[in-house]
Amino acid sequence: MREQDTPSWFRTGRSAIWPPYARFDAEALPVVRAAGVRLTLADGRELIDGVANWWTACHGHSHPHLVQAMADQLQQFSHVMFAGLAHEGAYRLAERLTALVPGDFTRVFFSESGSVSVEVALKMAAQYWMIAGQRGKTRFVAFRGGYHGDTLGTMPLCDPEEGMHAMYAGVFSPALLADLPTDPARQAALDRLLGDHADEIAAVIVEPLVQGAGGMRMYGPQTLTALRELCDRHGVLLIYDEIFTGFGRTGSLFAFEQAGAAPDILCLSKALSGGMAPLAATLARRPIAQAFESDHPAAVLMHGPTFMAGALACAAANASLDLFEREPRLEQALAIERQLKAQLEPCRAFPGVIDVRVKGAIGAVELDQETDGLRRAFPERGVWVRPFGRIVYLTPPLIIDPADLARLTDAVVAVVSQWSRSRL
Ligand SMILES: *Cc1c(COP(=O)(O)O)cnc(C)c1O
Repeated sequence: MREQDTPSWFRTGRSAIWPPYARFDAEALPVVRAAGVRLTLADGRELIDGVANWWTACHGHSHPHLVQAMADQLQQFSHVMFAGLAHEGAYRLAERLTALVPGDFTRVFFSESGSVSVEVALKMAAQYWMIAGQRGKTRFVAFRGGYHGDTLGTMPLCDPEEGMHAMYAGVFSPALLADLPTDPARQAALDRLLGDHADEIAAVIVEPLVQGAGGMRMYGPQTLTALRELCDRHGVLLIYDEIFTGFGRTGSLFAFEQAGAAPDILCLSKALSGGMAPLAATLARRPIAQAFESDHPAAVLMHGPTFMAGALACAAANASLDLFEREPRLEQALAIERQLKAQLEPCRAFPGVIDVRVKGAIGAVELDQETDGLRRAFPERGVWVRPFGRIVYLTPPLIIDPADLARLTDAVVAVVSQWSRSRL
């Protein structure tokens, strides 16, 4: 965007902003409106949102049903503290989530971000074992290629070499790191790791079917089934982080439904509120929740974020669940999958492209180089696509129509093709 086309708030405010994952001089595009799959920039240009607002806006931006639900809530109150006070949106949402998620999930702990919902899952798991009289079980197993958040408790669960927290290597007590058990040799290795450390390990944490921020790495449901068996064999809890994959992204409402192997604890966020407001949930299966009915001192989860179960966010989340009930989101995700498979396929032939992979409404093109230099090319083509690492990817809103999706895939093919030719 030309400097003279930027609004004054942008020019005067940017020296005060500390941007995410970036140096201070990182570029940002001023947005003045977002509706459906389109972002409108201050200079009047429109971009098609190919990343669904960091994987959250499953119904697109500003969906009228969600906006109305939030406006109605705002007429009553925007939030009330959740200790000692109750509100309808959170209670209805908790009940709906326990009914919606397959398996005997009986309790929901709300928080305001994905990272915190993972921290809560870790504390639930550790306290579960304290209540059971096994105080030593406080460590966690995580997988190479994984990503579970940016907070101090979740950073050690991220891939230590390729993940974005590499600079913290050795600073905090590490998780036990393993390869995803995608083949018999890796299953045997994990079996040994769990066996050797069973009395120290509280839980294993994994992103079901797709490791997102660690590089859009996809794997089959049988790996989850194997993982469930290994955890049961060694008396270790299993946590699924469905913060990215939940709410239709992989073609089923929750990715783990494709494996039929449920976790003990489940983390949800990102698309939970349809991308409208910060909200996350940690769900516990009946045996975990029941353990907290004991009178053991550890049977109180010592956690309570100030803005937990925000009423505006819960209103949006309830409205989002209405849309999943009424509208064919999963069919839409599968139609996106078919179109991504067909239209990203040409990338495979370009020199320097290592892989093209698609799962549900996620399409990824992996290059043999870092992609930072490609970022500017996308807005120039009228689309909002933001590559990271060696990955150029699309995670569009599930409501995108085939013509807009084709504009996204065209842009990816064109930019990758141009990159491929220029590197020769
Ligand atoms: C985004 C993400 C998180 C972290 O969520 P925040 O809301 O950014 O804290 C954790 N796990 C997965 C799988 C994610 O995609």
